[in-house]
Amino acid sequence: MREEMEGVEDREDEQPSATGGCLCGAVRYQLFGPLRDVVNCHCGQCLRTHGNFAAYSKVKRAAFKFVERQGLRWYGSSDRARRGFCRHCGSSLLWERSDGDAISVSAGSIDRPTGLKTTHDIFVSDKGDYYELAPGTDIILHGGLSKEKEGSAAFGAHAGGQALAGMSDRDSGDRE
Ligand SMILES: [Zn+2]
Ligand SMILES: [Zn+2]
Repeated sequence: MREEMEGVEDREDEQPSATGGCLCGAVRYQLFGPLRDVVNCHCGQCLRTHGNFAAYSKVKRAAFKFVERQGLRWYGSSDRARRGFCRHCGSSLLWERSDGDAISVSAGSIDRPTGLKTTHDIFVSDKGDYYELAPGTDIILHGGLSKEKEGSAAFGAHAGGQALAGMSDRDSGDRE
């Protein structure tokens, strides 16, 4: 896998823009620079592993640093993506593509105030039949965010609003 990539960035002199972690504290992380606003994923995998639809922010892989990872485990949810969770408390924390340069971070695991807002609902064609979508987001029936829409999902709650280039990693339309 890509264990060697965890925390390779030396961020000791930089203040994180956000921090977060799992329920029990055996996984803690820092995020640096702008965070993408929150996207709700309604795909069947997210429903199962989160127990409901998943709400994810996202940062560049190099902007993510573990500060505690003794509870961390990865589950390969497909041959192209894996999901990070805590083996002690079961918190679902992370999603990343094996060929991506970004990591999705579950919004509920980010310490408050996050300064984020929810902008999109994706994979809505797979959504659970027991709830309705909240109004006010852009709805994507099939698939994830296109590169264009990913760019429009605002960055900047933490860093002045500039979008990051190349942040799309859910544009294939395939559930992962
Ligand atoms: Zn935990
Ligand atoms: Zn999903």
